[in-house]
Amino acid sequence: MSGGDMAKPLLGHGSIEGDPSITPAPGRTIGVLGSGDFARSLAIRLVCSGFKVVVGSRNPKRKAGLFPSAAEVTFQAEAVKKTDVIFVAVFREHYSTLCDLADVLAGKILVDVSNNTEVNHHKESNAEYLASLFPACTIVKGFNVLSAWTLQSGARDGNKQVLICSNNQEAKRTVAEIAQGMGFTPVDMGCLSSACEIENIPLRLLPAWKIPIFLALGLFLCFFTYNLIRQVIHPYIREQKNKLYKIPIEVVNTTLPCVAYVMLSLVYLPGVLAACSQLYYGTKYRPFPDWLDQWLQHRKQIGLLSFFCAALHAVYSFCLPMRRSHRYQLIETAVKQAVEKKMNIWVEEEVWRMEIYISVGIIALGLLSLLAITSLPSIANSLNWREFSFIQSTLGFVALVISTLHTLTYGWSRAFDENQYKFYLPPTYTLTLLVPCTVILAKVIFSLPCIQQRLLRIRRGWEKGRYVKFVLPSATGEYSSGETSSNV
Ligand code: NAP
Repeated sequence: MSGGDMAKPLLGHGSIEGDPSITPAPGRTIGVLGSGDFARSLAIRLVCSGFKVVVGSRNPKRKAGLFPSAAEVTFQAEAVKKTDVIFVAVFREHYSTLCDLADVLAGKILVDVSNNTEVNHHKESNAEYLASLFPACTIVKGFNVLSAWTLQSGARDGNKQVLICSNNQEAKRTVAEIAQGMGFTPVDMGCLSSACEIENIPLRLLPAWKIPIFLALGLFLCFFTYNLIRQVIHPYIREQKNKLYKIPIEVVNTTLPCVAYVMLSLVYLPGVLAACSQLYYGTKYRPFPDWLDQWLQHRKQIGLLSFFCAALHAVYSFCLPMRRSHRYQLIETAVKQAVEKKMNIWVEEEVWRMEIYISVGIIALGLLSLLAITSLPSIANSLNWREFSFIQSTLGFVALVISTLHTLTYGWSRAFDENQYKFYLPPTYTLTLLVPCTVILAKVIFSLPCIQQRLLRIRRGWEKGRYVKFVLPSATGEYSSGETSSNV
Protein backbone atom coordinates (compact mmCIF):
# COMPACT_ATOMS: atom_id res chain seq x y z
CA MET A 1 0.00 0.00 0.00
CA SER A 2 1.11 3.52 -0.63
CA GLY A 3 1.68 5.94 2.14
CA GLY A 4 -0.80 8.50 0.81
CA ASP A 5 -3.77 9.89 2.67
CA MET A 6 -6.05 7.31 1.12
CA ALA A 7 -4.01 4.64 2.83
CA LYS A 8 -5.18 5.98 6.16
CA PRO A 9 -8.92 5.44 6.38
CA LEU A 10 -10.57 6.80 9.49
CA LEU A 11 -11.53 3.29 10.45
CA GLY A 12 -8.00 2.04 9.93
CA HIS A 13 -7.46 1.67 13.65
CA GLY A 14 -9.52 -0.46 15.93
CA SER A 15 -13.13 0.57 15.71
CA ILE A 16 -15.00 0.30 18.96
CA GLU A 17 -18.25 0.25 17.00
CA GLY A 18 -20.31 -2.80 17.76
CA ASP A 19 -18.04 -3.79 20.65
CA PRO A 20 -20.53 -5.68 22.87
CA SER A 21 -18.58 -4.83 26.01
CA ILE A 22 -19.31 -1.14 25.50
CA THR A 23 -22.63 -0.16 26.97
CA PRO A 24 -23.96 3.32 26.30
CA ALA A 25 -23.80 5.30 29.51
CA PRO A 26 -26.61 7.87 29.65
CA GLY A 27 -27.53 8.97 33.15
CA ARG A 28 -24.04 9.87 34.35
CA THR A 29 -23.01 13.46 34.99
CA ILE A 30 -20.69 15.06 32.43
CA GLY A 31 -18.84 18.31 32.97
CA VAL A 32 -18.13 20.89 30.29
CA LEU A 33 -15.61 23.69 30.81
CA GLY A 34 -16.38 26.72 28.63
CA SER A 35 -19.64 28.19 27.40
CA GLY A 36 -18.88 28.88 23.73
CA ASP A 37 -20.37 27.39 20.56
CA PHE A 38 -18.88 23.95 21.02
CA ALA A 39 -19.70 23.74 24.73
CA ARG A 40 -23.30 24.72 24.01
CA SER A 41 -23.76 22.17 21.21
CA LEU A 42 -22.09 19.50 23.35
CA ALA A 43 -24.38 20.27 26.29
CA ILE A 44 -27.51 20.16 24.08
CA ARG A 45 -26.46 16.81 22.58
CA LEU A 46 -25.58 15.33 25.98
CA VAL A 47 -28.90 16.45 27.51
CA CYS A 48 -30.83 15.06 24.52
CA SER A 49 -28.97 11.75 24.95
CA GLY A 50 -30.01 11.45 28.59
CA PHE A 51 -26.86 12.64 30.37
CA LYS A 52 -26.80 15.10 33.25
CA VAL A 53 -24.71 18.11 32.30
CA VAL A 54 -22.88 20.60 34.46
CA VAL A 55 -21.25 23.54 32.67
CA GLY A 56 -18.32 25.42 34.22
CA SER A 57 -18.07 29.05 33.16
CA ARG A 58 -16.15 32.10 34.36
CA ASN A 59 -19.43 33.98 34.23
CA PRO A 60 -22.28 31.50 34.82
CA LYS A 61 -24.97 34.13 35.37
CA ARG A 62 -24.48 35.68 31.96
CA LYS A 63 -24.14 32.36 30.10
CA ALA A 64 -26.89 30.28 31.79
CA GLY A 65 -29.59 31.49 29.39
CA LEU A 66 -27.68 30.05 26.40
CA PHE A 67 -27.92 26.47 27.68
CA PRO A 68 -30.90 24.09 27.90
CA SER A 69 -32.67 24.40 31.25
CA ALA A 70 -31.78 20.77 32.06
CA ALA A 71 -28.07 21.70 32.10
CA GLU A 72 -26.66 23.23 35.26
CA VAL A 73 -24.43 26.27 34.61
CA THR A 74 -22.13 27.17 37.46
CA PHE A 75 -18.59 28.37 38.22
CA GLN A 76 -15.74 26.29 36.83
CA ALA A 77 -14.58 24.92 40.22
CA GLU A 78 -18.14 24.00 41.22
CA ALA A 79 -18.75 22.16 37.97
CA VAL A 80 -15.50 20.21 38.18
CA LYS A 81 -16.34 18.97 41.70
CA LYS A 82 -19.59 17.40 40.50
CA THR A 83 -18.20 15.04 37.90
CA ASP A 84 -15.30 12.77 36.94
CA VAL A 85 -15.42 13.36 33.20
CA ILE A 86 -14.89 16.91 31.97
CA PHE A 87 -14.89 18.16 28.38
CA VAL A 88 -12.42 21.03 28.03
CA ALA A 89 -14.21 23.23 25.46
CA VAL A 90 -11.77 26.14 25.56
CA PHE A 91 -8.97 27.08 23.16
CA ARG A 92 -5.41 25.83 23.75
CA GLU A 93 -4.12 29.33 24.48
CA HIS A 94 -6.49 29.52 27.48
CA TYR A 95 -5.55 26.15 29.01
CA SER A 96 -3.08 27.80 31.36
CA THR A 97 -5.90 29.91 32.84
CA LEU A 98 -7.41 26.65 34.12
CA CYS A 99 -4.31 25.87 36.23
CA ASP A 100 -6.02 27.28 39.32
CA LEU A 101 -8.34 24.28 39.10
CA ALA A 102 -5.48 21.75 39.16
CA ASP A 103 -6.31 20.49 42.67
CA VAL A 104 -10.01 19.87 42.01
CA LEU A 105 -9.23 18.36 38.61
CA ALA A 106 -6.73 15.83 40.01
CA GLY A 107 -7.64 12.22 39.24
CA LYS A 108 -10.36 13.18 36.73
CA ILE A 109 -10.70 12.49 33.01
CA LEU A 110 -10.21 15.56 30.82
CA VAL A 111 -11.48 15.31 27.24
CA ASP A 112 -9.51 17.60 24.93
CA VAL A 113 -11.79 18.65 22.05
CA SER A 114 -9.57 21.40 20.65
CA ASN A 115 -8.43 22.01 17.10
CA ASN A 116 -5.64 24.09 15.63
CA THR A 117 -5.70 26.63 12.83
CA GLU A 118 -2.73 25.12 10.95
CA VAL A 119 -1.50 21.58 10.35
CA ASN A 120 1.24 20.68 12.90
CA HIS A 121 0.84 24.16 14.39
CA HIS A 122 2.66 23.38 17.65
CA LYS A 123 5.52 21.03 18.48
CA GLU A 124 3.30 18.95 20.75
CA SER A 125 -0.38 18.28 20.24
CA ASN A 126 -2.95 20.27 22.25
CA ALA A 127 -3.86 17.11 24.18
CA GLU A 128 -0.22 16.45 25.11
CA TYR A 129 0.13 20.09 26.16
CA LEU A 130 -2.96 19.74 28.37
CA ALA A 131 -1.47 16.54 29.84
CA SER A 132 1.74 18.43 30.66
CA LEU A 133 -0.26 21.15 32.47
CA PHE A 134 -2.36 18.63 34.42
CA PRO A 135 -0.16 15.60 35.18
CA ALA A 136 -2.58 14.36 37.84
CA CYS A 137 -5.42 14.06 35.28
CA THR A 138 -6.06 11.47 32.60
CA ILE A 139 -6.28 13.09 29.18
CA VAL A 140 -8.40 11.72 26.35
CA LYS A 141 -8.38 13.32 22.90
CA GLY A 142 -11.72 13.18 21.13
CA PHE A 143 -14.75 14.85 19.54
CA ASN A 144 -12.61 17.47 17.74
CA VAL A 145 -13.49 16.03 14.30
CA LEU A 146 -17.15 16.93 14.92
CA SER A 147 -18.33 20.47 14.31
CA ALA A 148 -20.65 22.28 16.71
CA TRP A 149 -23.28 22.00 13.98
CA THR A 150 -22.91 18.18 13.72
CA LEU A 151 -23.21 17.92 17.48
CA GLN A 152 -26.42 19.90 17.52
CA SER A 153 -28.05 18.11 14.60
CA GLY A 154 -27.05 14.79 16.14
CA ALA A 155 -25.53 11.72 14.55
CA ARG A 156 -28.23 11.50 11.86
CA ASP A 157 -26.56 14.20 9.82
CA GLY A 158 -22.86 14.68 9.07
CA ASN A 159 -19.87 12.77 10.33
CA LYS A 160 -20.68 9.99 12.79
CA GLN A 161 -17.16 9.00 13.81
CA VAL A 162 -15.51 10.18 17.00
CA LEU A 163 -11.78 9.49 16.95
CA ILE A 164 -10.44 8.83 20.42
CA CYS A 165 -6.93 8.34 21.82
CA SER A 166 -5.45 8.17 25.29
CA ASN A 167 -2.69 6.45 27.23
CA ASN A 168 -5.30 5.15 29.66
CA GLN A 169 -7.50 2.31 28.37
CA GLU A 170 -10.13 2.74 31.06
CA ALA A 171 -10.54 6.47 30.38
CA LYS A 172 -10.70 5.81 26.65
CA ARG A 173 -13.44 3.25 27.23
CA THR A 174 -15.41 5.70 29.39
CA VAL A 175 -15.29 8.40 26.69
CA ALA A 176 -16.16 5.80 24.01
CA GLU A 177 -19.25 4.87 26.04
CA ILE A 178 -20.28 8.53 26.21
CA ALA A 179 -19.78 8.94 22.44
CA GLN A 180 -21.85 5.84 21.79
CA GLY A 181 -24.52 7.08 24.19
CA MET A 182 -24.73 10.25 22.08
CA GLY A 183 -25.26 8.18 18.92
CA PHE A 184 -21.74 8.51 17.51
CA THR A 185 -19.28 5.83 16.47
CA PRO A 186 -16.15 5.81 18.65
CA VAL A 187 -12.96 4.85 16.82
CA ASP A 188 -9.91 3.84 18.86
CA MET A 189 -6.85 5.64 17.51
CA GLY A 190 -4.44 4.33 20.12
CA CYS A 191 -2.16 6.29 22.48
CA LEU A 192 -2.16 10.03 23.19
CA SER A 193 0.71 10.40 20.71
CA SER A 194 -1.96 9.99 17.96
CA ALA A 195 -3.56 13.26 19.10
CA CYS A 196 -1.46 15.26 16.63
CA GLU A 197 -2.82 13.16 13.73
CA ILE A 198 -6.40 13.52 15.04
CA GLU A 199 -5.97 17.29 15.40
CA ASN A 200 -4.77 17.56 11.79
CA ILE A 201 -7.79 15.73 10.35
CA PRO A 202 -10.27 18.67 10.42
CA LEU A 203 -7.64 20.88 8.76
CA ARG A 204 -7.14 18.72 5.70
CA LEU A 205 -8.59 20.21 2.53
CA LEU A 206 -9.90 17.48 0.23
CA PRO A 207 -6.77 15.29 0.48
CA ALA A 208 -8.16 12.63 -1.85
CA TRP A 209 -9.07 15.21 -4.49
CA LYS A 210 -5.72 16.94 -5.02
CA ILE A 211 -4.33 14.59 -7.69
CA PRO A 212 -7.64 14.22 -9.61
CA ILE A 213 -8.20 18.00 -9.58
CA PHE A 214 -4.67 18.70 -10.86
CA LEU A 215 -5.17 16.02 -13.50
CA ALA A 216 -8.45 17.59 -14.64
CA LEU A 217 -6.94 21.09 -14.67
CA GLY A 218 -3.90 19.86 -16.60
CA LEU A 219 -6.07 18.15 -19.22
CA PHE A 220 -8.33 21.21 -19.42
CA LEU A 221 -5.36 23.50 -20.01
CA CYS A 222 -3.88 21.25 -22.73
CA PHE A 223 -7.15 20.79 -24.64
CA PHE A 224 -8.12 24.45 -24.17
CA THR A 225 -4.81 25.62 -25.70
CA TYR A 226 -5.16 23.13 -28.55
CA ASN A 227 -8.73 24.26 -29.31
CA LEU A 228 -7.75 27.92 -28.99
CA ILE A 229 -5.06 27.45 -31.62
CA ARG A 230 -7.46 25.68 -33.98
CA GLN A 231 -10.58 27.82 -33.45
CA VAL A 232 -9.22 31.31 -32.75
CA ILE A 233 -5.53 31.71 -33.59
CA HIS A 234 -5.61 29.83 -36.91
CA PRO A 235 -8.46 31.92 -38.49
CA TYR A 236 -6.76 35.10 -37.26
CA ILE A 237 -3.37 34.27 -38.77
CA ARG A 238 -4.64 32.67 -42.00
CA GLU A 239 -7.70 34.82 -42.77
CA GLN A 240 -7.33 37.83 -40.43
CA LYS A 241 -10.70 36.95 -38.89
CA ASN A 242 -11.31 37.96 -35.28
CA LYS A 243 -12.87 34.93 -33.55
CA LEU A 244 -12.06 35.90 -29.98
CA TYR A 245 -15.78 35.83 -29.12
CA LYS A 246 -15.56 32.02 -29.35
CA ILE A 247 -13.36 31.74 -26.25
CA PRO A 248 -15.98 31.95 -23.43
CA ILE A 249 -18.43 29.40 -24.83
CA GLU A 250 -17.36 27.56 -27.97
CA VAL A 251 -13.75 26.87 -27.02
CA VAL A 252 -14.73 25.97 -23.45
CA ASN A 253 -17.53 23.74 -24.72
CA THR A 254 -15.22 21.83 -27.05
CA THR A 255 -12.69 21.45 -24.22
CA LEU A 256 -15.06 20.16 -21.51
CA PRO A 257 -16.17 16.97 -23.33
CA CYS A 258 -12.53 16.17 -24.15
CA VAL A 259 -11.64 16.36 -20.45
CA ALA A 260 -14.76 14.40 -19.41
CA TYR A 261 -14.12 11.65 -21.97
CA VAL A 262 -10.40 11.24 -21.28
CA MET A 263 -11.00 11.34 -17.49
CA LEU A 264 -13.63 8.60 -17.83
CA SER A 265 -11.14 6.44 -19.69
CA LEU A 266 -8.55 7.17 -16.97
CA VAL A 267 -10.95 5.57 -14.46
CA TYR A 268 -10.65 2.26 -16.31
CA LEU A 269 -7.04 2.46 -17.56
CA PRO A 270 -5.41 1.59 -14.18
CA GLY A 271 -7.60 -1.54 -13.98
CA VAL A 272 -6.28 -2.55 -17.41
CA LEU A 273 -2.68 -1.89 -16.33
CA ALA A 274 -3.25 -3.86 -13.13
CA ALA A 275 -4.65 -6.79 -15.14
CA CYS A 276 -1.65 -6.63 -17.54
CA SER A 277 0.72 -6.72 -14.55
CA GLN A 278 -1.11 -9.70 -13.06
CA LEU A 279 -1.06 -11.57 -16.38
CA TYR A 280 2.61 -10.78 -16.96
CA TYR A 281 3.81 -11.84 -13.51
CA GLY A 282 1.21 -14.61 -13.19
CA THR A 283 0.22 -13.62 -9.66
CA LYS A 284 -2.03 -11.22 -7.80
CA TYR A 285 0.27 -11.16 -4.78
CA ARG A 286 2.97 -8.96 -6.35
CA PRO A 287 2.32 -5.38 -5.12
CA PHE A 288 1.59 -2.77 -7.78
CA PRO A 289 3.97 0.15 -8.15
CA ASP A 290 3.11 3.07 -5.89
CA TRP A 291 1.86 5.32 -8.72
CA LEU A 292 -0.55 2.61 -9.92
CA ASP A 293 -1.76 2.02 -6.39
CA GLN A 294 -2.43 5.75 -5.95
CA TRP A 295 -4.18 5.89 -9.32
CA LEU A 296 -6.44 2.93 -8.43
CA GLN A 297 -7.37 4.65 -5.17
CA HIS A 298 -8.34 7.90 -6.91
CA ARG A 299 -10.67 6.36 -9.52
CA LYS A 300 -13.82 7.53 -7.73
CA GLN A 301 -12.71 11.17 -7.68
CA ILE A 302 -11.53 10.99 -11.31
CA GLY A 303 -14.93 9.56 -12.29
CA LEU A 304 -16.82 12.26 -10.40
CA LEU A 305 -14.77 15.00 -12.08
CA SER A 306 -15.48 13.37 -15.44
CA PHE A 307 -19.20 13.53 -14.61
CA PHE A 308 -18.83 17.18 -13.55
CA CYS A 309 -17.22 18.15 -16.88
CA ALA A 310 -19.81 16.14 -18.84
CA ALA A 311 -22.67 17.88 -16.98
CA LEU A 312 -21.12 21.29 -17.69
CA HIS A 313 -20.75 20.32 -21.36
CA ALA A 314 -24.47 19.44 -21.46
CA VAL A 315 -25.45 22.81 -19.98
CA TYR A 316 -23.11 24.73 -22.31
CA SER A 317 -24.46 22.83 -25.35
CA PHE A 318 -28.01 23.58 -24.24
CA CYS A 319 -27.18 27.30 -24.20
CA LEU A 320 -25.43 27.40 -27.61
CA PRO A 321 -28.56 28.58 -29.54
CA MET A 322 -29.04 31.44 -27.02
CA ARG A 323 -25.90 33.23 -28.17
CA ARG A 324 -26.19 36.35 -30.35
CA SER A 325 -23.34 35.08 -32.54
CA HIS A 326 -25.37 31.97 -33.28
CA ARG A 327 -28.44 34.03 -34.23
CA TYR A 328 -26.38 36.24 -36.58
CA GLN A 329 -24.92 33.16 -38.25
CA LEU A 330 -28.38 31.62 -38.72
CA ILE A 331 -29.76 34.83 -40.27
CA GLU A 332 -26.66 35.22 -42.44
CA THR A 333 -27.03 31.66 -43.76
CA ALA A 334 -30.77 32.20 -44.40
CA VAL A 335 -30.10 35.45 -46.30
CA LYS A 336 -27.36 33.80 -48.39
CA GLN A 337 -29.70 30.95 -49.30
CA ALA A 338 -32.48 33.37 -50.20
CA VAL A 339 -30.09 35.31 -52.45
CA GLU A 340 -28.93 32.07 -54.07
CA LYS A 341 -32.60 31.01 -54.30
CA LYS A 342 -31.90 27.71 -52.55
CA MET A 343 -35.18 26.19 -51.36
CA ASN A 344 -34.24 22.79 -49.97
CA ILE A 345 -31.35 22.85 -47.53
CA TRP A 346 -32.10 19.48 -45.86
CA VAL A 347 -29.02 17.24 -45.74
CA GLU A 348 -30.15 13.75 -44.77
CA GLU A 349 -26.72 12.59 -43.54
CA GLU A 350 -26.24 15.70 -41.38
CA VAL A 351 -29.70 15.30 -39.86
CA TRP A 352 -29.11 11.67 -38.93
CA ARG A 353 -25.64 12.35 -37.58
CA MET A 354 -26.96 15.09 -35.29
CA GLU A 355 -29.92 13.03 -34.04
CA ILE A 356 -27.70 10.07 -33.16
CA TYR A 357 -24.98 12.30 -31.71
CA ILE A 358 -27.37 14.03 -29.29
CA SER A 359 -29.24 10.87 -28.33
CA VAL A 360 -26.05 8.94 -27.58
CA GLY A 361 -24.71 11.91 -25.61
CA ILE A 362 -27.83 11.99 -23.42
CA ILE A 363 -27.53 8.25 -22.72
CA ALA A 364 -23.84 8.65 -21.82
CA LEU A 365 -24.66 11.51 -19.43
CA GLY A 366 -27.46 9.44 -17.87
CA LEU A 367 -25.08 6.55 -17.23
CA LEU A 368 -22.44 8.89 -15.80
CA SER A 369 -25.07 10.34 -13.44
CA LEU A 370 -25.90 6.81 -12.28
CA LEU A 371 -22.21 6.09 -11.64
CA ALA A 372 -21.84 9.36 -9.72
CA ILE A 373 -24.92 8.76 -7.57
CA THR A 374 -23.96 5.19 -6.71
CA SER A 375 -20.49 6.30 -5.66
CA LEU A 376 -21.99 8.36 -2.82
CA PRO A 377 -21.33 6.49 0.44
CA SER A 378 -24.99 6.51 1.54
CA ILE A 379 -26.08 4.87 -1.76
CA ALA A 380 -23.02 2.63 -2.09
CA ASN A 381 -23.65 1.27 1.42
CA SER A 382 -27.12 0.12 0.40
CA LEU A 383 -25.74 -1.97 -2.48
CA ASN A 384 -24.14 -5.38 -2.15
CA TRP A 385 -20.73 -5.98 -3.73
CA ARG A 386 -22.18 -7.53 -6.91
CA GLU A 387 -24.59 -4.63 -7.49
CA PHE A 388 -21.86 -2.07 -6.85
CA SER A 389 -19.36 -3.75 -9.15
CA PHE A 390 -22.02 -4.24 -11.87
CA ILE A 391 -22.83 -0.51 -11.86
CA GLN A 392 -19.29 0.84 -11.44
CA SER A 393 -17.50 -1.68 -13.61
CA THR A 394 -19.94 -2.99 -16.24
CA LEU A 395 -22.19 0.05 -16.65
CA GLY A 396 -19.13 2.29 -16.36
CA PHE A 397 -17.53 0.47 -19.27
CA VAL A 398 -20.80 0.76 -21.24
CA ALA A 399 -20.71 4.52 -20.51
CA LEU A 400 -17.19 4.63 -21.96
CA VAL A 401 -18.29 2.80 -25.12
CA ILE A 402 -21.33 5.07 -25.54
CA SER A 403 -19.18 8.16 -24.99
CA THR A 404 -16.90 6.83 -27.74
CA LEU A 405 -19.92 6.55 -30.07
CA HIS A 406 -20.87 10.11 -29.08
CA THR A 407 -17.37 11.30 -29.99
CA LEU A 408 -17.30 9.35 -33.25
CA THR A 409 -20.69 10.68 -34.40
CA TYR A 410 -19.50 14.19 -33.54
CA GLY A 411 -16.29 13.79 -35.51
CA TRP A 412 -17.86 11.74 -38.33
CA SER A 413 -15.60 12.08 -41.40
CA ARG A 414 -13.72 15.17 -40.25
CA ALA A 415 -10.56 13.20 -39.62
CA PHE A 416 -10.39 12.50 -43.38
CA ASP A 417 -11.04 16.11 -44.43
CA GLU A 418 -7.78 17.96 -45.00
CA ASN A 419 -9.44 21.35 -44.31
CA GLN A 420 -9.87 20.20 -40.71
CA TYR A 421 -6.11 20.05 -40.17
CA LYS A 422 -5.28 23.55 -38.88
CA PHE A 423 -1.53 24.14 -38.78
CA TYR A 424 -1.35 20.38 -39.50
CA LEU A 425 -3.09 19.76 -36.16
CA PRO A 426 -5.73 17.01 -36.39
CA PRO A 427 -9.28 17.66 -35.07
CA THR A 428 -9.35 17.49 -31.26
CA TYR A 429 -11.71 14.52 -31.15
CA THR A 430 -9.14 12.29 -32.85
CA LEU A 431 -6.72 12.97 -29.97
CA THR A 432 -9.30 12.23 -27.30
CA LEU A 433 -10.03 8.82 -28.84
CA LEU A 434 -6.53 7.54 -28.14
CA VAL A 435 -6.76 6.47 -24.47
CA PRO A 436 -10.45 5.38 -24.44
CA CYS A 437 -9.99 3.21 -27.54
CA THR A 438 -6.90 1.62 -25.97
CA VAL A 439 -8.95 0.81 -22.86
CA ILE A 440 -11.85 -0.59 -24.89
CA LEU A 441 -9.49 -2.71 -27.00
CA ALA A 442 -7.73 -4.03 -23.89
CA LYS A 443 -11.08 -4.91 -22.28
CA VAL A 444 -12.12 -6.77 -25.44
CA ILE A 445 -8.84 -8.72 -25.42
CA PHE A 446 -9.27 -9.53 -21.71
CA SER A 447 -12.74 -10.91 -22.44
CA LEU A 448 -11.30 -13.55 -24.81
CA PRO A 449 -11.93 -16.88 -23.02
CA CYS A 450 -8.26 -17.95 -22.87
CA ILE A 451 -7.17 -14.67 -21.24
CA GLN A 452 -10.28 -14.26 -19.12
CA GLN A 453 -9.83 -17.74 -17.64
CA ARG A 454 -6.19 -17.10 -16.80
CA LEU A 455 -7.01 -13.74 -15.21
CA LEU A 456 -9.83 -15.29 -13.19
CA ARG A 457 -7.54 -18.05 -11.92
CA ILE A 458 -4.87 -15.50 -10.94
CA ARG A 459 -7.46 -13.43 -9.09
CA ARG A 460 -8.53 -16.55 -7.18
CA GLY A 461 -4.98 -17.07 -5.93
CA TRP A 462 -3.34 -19.18 -8.65
CA GLU A 463 0.32 -18.33 -9.24
CA LYS A 464 2.65 -19.00 -12.16
CA GLY A 465 5.46 -21.43 -11.31
CA ARG A 466 4.20 -22.21 -7.84
CA TYR A 467 4.13 -25.86 -6.87
CA VAL A 468 0.87 -27.06 -5.32
CA LYS A 469 0.03 -30.25 -3.55
CA PHE A 470 -2.52 -32.38 -5.36
CA VAL A 471 -4.48 -35.44 -4.29
CA LEU A 472 -5.51 -38.08 -6.84
CA PRO A 473 -7.80 -41.06 -6.31
CA SER A 474 -6.01 -44.37 -7.16
CA ALA A 475 -7.55 -47.33 -9.00
CA THR A 476 -8.28 -48.96 -5.67
CA GLY A 477 -10.18 -45.92 -4.53
CA GLU A 478 -7.40 -44.82 -2.21
CA TYR A 479 -5.86 -41.37 -2.52
CA SER A 480 -2.22 -40.75 -3.43
CA SER A 481 -0.59 -37.36 -3.14
CA GLY A 482 2.21 -35.61 -5.02
CA GLU A 483 3.35 -32.20 -6.21
CA THR A 484 3.04 -30.47 -9.55
CA SER A 485 3.53 -27.05 -11.01
CA SER A 486 0.20 -25.27 -11.02
CA ASN A 487 0.82 -23.64 -14.39
CA VAL A 488 1.34 -26.85 -16.27
P1 NAP B 1 -15.71 29.87 21.81
O1 NAP B 1 -17.09 30.00 21.29
O2 NAP B 1 -14.81 31.03 21.65
O3 NAP B 1 -15.74 29.44 23.33
C1 NAP B 1 -14.58 29.35 24.10
C2 NAP B 1 -14.97 29.38 25.55
O4 NAP B 1 -13.81 29.21 26.33
C3 NAP B 1 -15.57 30.69 26.00
O5 NAP B 1 -16.95 30.71 25.79
C4 NAP B 1 -15.18 30.76 27.46
O6 NAP B 1 -16.28 30.38 28.27
C5 NAP B 1 -14.10 29.69 27.63
N1 NAP B 1 -12.88 30.24 28.27
C6 NAP B 1 -12.29 29.71 29.37
N2 NAP B 1 -11.22 30.40 29.68
C7 NAP B 1 -11.11 31.40 28.81
C8 NAP B 1 -10.21 32.48 28.63
N3 NAP B 1 -9.16 32.65 29.44
N4 NAP B 1 -10.42 33.34 27.63
C9 NAP B 1 -11.46 33.19 26.79
N5 NAP B 1 -12.36 32.17 26.89
C10 NAP B 1 -12.17 31.29 27.89
O7 NAP B 1 -14.99 28.63 21.10
P2 NAP B 1 -15.66 27.26 20.60
O8 NAP B 1 -15.98 27.39 19.18
O9 NAP B 1 -16.74 26.81 21.51
O10 NAP B 1 -14.41 26.25 20.72
C11 NAP B 1 -14.02 25.73 21.96
C12 NAP B 1 -13.06 24.59 21.74
O11 NAP B 1 -13.71 23.59 20.97
C13 NAP B 1 -11.82 25.02 20.95
O12 NAP B 1 -10.67 24.37 21.46
C14 NAP B 1 -12.11 24.53 19.55
O13 NAP B 1 -10.93 24.22 18.83
C15 NAP B 1 -12.91 23.27 19.85
N6 NAP B 1 -13.79 22.89 18.71
C16 NAP B 1 -14.74 23.76 18.26
C17 NAP B 1 -15.56 23.37 17.21
C18 NAP B 1 -16.65 24.27 16.68
O14 NAP B 1 -17.35 23.88 15.72
N7 NAP B 1 -16.86 25.44 17.24
C19 NAP B 1 -15.37 22.11 16.60
C20 NAP B 1 -14.40 21.25 17.09
C21 NAP B 1 -13.62 21.65 18.17
P3 NAP B 1 -16.59 31.18 29.65
O15 NAP B 1 -16.53 32.64 29.31
O16 NAP B 1 -17.96 30.74 30.03
O17 NAP B 1 -15.54 30.76 30.61
